[in-house]
Amino acid sequence: INAIAVMTSGGDSPGMNPAIRSVTRAALNQGIRVFGINRGYSGLIIGDLSELKSSDVTNIVQRGGTILKSDRCEAFKDPVVRNQAAEILKEHGIGGLIVIGGDGSLTGAHLLTQETGLPVVGLPGTIDNDIYGTDDSIGFDTALNTALEAIDKIRDTAVSHERIFLVEVMGRNSGHIASQVGVACGAEMIVVPEIDFKLDALCFSLANQRAEGRGSSGIIVVAEGPKPGLTYRLANQLETHGEKPGVCILGHIQRGGRPTGHDRVLASCLGAAAVTYLMAGFTDIMVGMINSKITATPLLDIMEKKKPLNPQLVELAQLLHK
Ligand code: ADP
Repeated sequence: INAIAVMTSGGDSPGMNPAIRSVTRAALNQGIRVFGINRGYSGLIIGDLSELKSSDVTNIVQRGGTILKSDRCEAFKDPVVRNQAAEILKEHGIGGLIVIGGDGSLTGAHLLTQETGLPVVGLPGTIDNDIYGTDDSIGFDTALNTALEAIDKIRDTAVSHERIFLVEVMGRNSGHIASQVGVACGAEMIVVPEIDFKLDALCFSLANQRAEGRGSSGIIVVAEGPKPGLTYRLANQLETHGEKPGVCILGHIQRGGRPTGHDRVLASCLGAAAVTYLMAGFTDIMVGMINSKITATPLLDIMEKKKPLNPQLVELAQLLHK
């Protein structure tokens, strides 16, 4: 392999830039040329790529988002289109691809290498931390800290006004963000898709607080869940029990911002390791970090295995509740 390409795909996450920088510099320092593909698979299928020099990744280690842009691309779900994409890379003399993205992007990466033989290595780039094969995904730590900064402010108002606030964090299918945010912000309760939520128990506990003269201030962290509007539905139900909850949807604020030190180090380690694996002849794997060790996991496992939520975190929040 004389040249490789790198791209970011799916939802952006803080730390994608240090990952791009690490891939680029690690490859260039081994004499391998690097091409950056713009806008994920959308750019790949039209050959929107350009060669990256070392100076192209200067001053990006601290920046959120992705200099390569990101996109979603329905057309890439068609095997004919994936075949054309591999041809485009071959025409440019590119012998390997590094895809930084979430589980959808890594599924596309698996199919691309399986069908075309093009060596592909994935990196876990998503704030959701729902990817099997790595303790943390690139961007998760930053998103956690961004959510905490917001919730600490909301708690000031919750306490001053003795009100309950429902705060919705990202996580359609997984409560990884919600469970960690919940413990770290001292939430009174955490609602995640993986665990049945008992609204009655919450109402009972709130009524008890009031009966004991403690006021009913508190933060309930809610993972957005598969159906939009969950947090408002919960708020409505609480209102029928006499509460007047505030609602705050954190939304896209969680996806942006300067990557934390943890995310920069993780992205830098994984980016360089992805180049090493690609050059050593590996394909169809994702490079992650488990127990502080770089690991390679088959992309098929990433697609088929769900990263389990640590239920103890959800219980811990309740144990630590006043
Ligand atoms: P993320 O990578 O953040 O999970 P998506 O699930 O939206 O984000 O996936 C990003 C892109 O990856 C999709 O727009 C598509 O181009 C590609 N992709 C997702 N799923 C598949 C699939 N089953 N087959 C081929 N490509 C896919």
